[in-house]
Amino acid sequence: MKKEKILISSCLLGENVKYDGGNNDITQEPFIQKLLKEDLLVGICPEVEGGLPTPRIPVEIINNKAINQAGEDKTLFFKEGAKKALALCEEHHIKYAILKFRSPSCGSNVIYDGTFSHTFRQGDGITAKVLKEHGIEVFSEKELDKLEKILAN
Ligand code: SF4
Repeated sequence: MKKEKILISSCLLGENVKYDGGNNDITQEPFIQKLLKEDLLVGICPEVEGGLPTPRIPVEIINNKAINQAGEDKTLFFKEGAKKALALCEEHHIKYAILKFRSPSCGSNVIYDGTFSHTFRQGDGITAKVLKEHGIEVFSEKELDKLEKILAN
């Protein structure tokens, strides 16, 4: 397996950074175990790094803005988090990221649709979009097999 650092949403590493104070731990996945053992994962929660507290009011993307369920615009925090995620990628020469499915920051290709009703639409979260624009390939936790194949070659 290629030994290069990979960015990962820190909620996937079991850190309690989700809007509700929980996490989305996938550290028991064999591929993630392998990456952890080799010390190849660099974790970040863009929303927390951008300055938002945990717990926080959930946010969805509406007209390219990060709006919380109380109607407040949190786009600047989201953009700051994306900037920090990109800086980490640059620092570690990262080309691949594993980011949480459907999140308004981390989601890739599919995100919540802005109605706070657990429905989805095509689109990228704010961090996923910035990373892609800078040539970083983004995989969700549902696509670990794809990344594993790339790293095996
Ligand atoms: Fe997880 Fe990303 Fe949401 Fe932070 S912003 S809780 S890392 S999905």
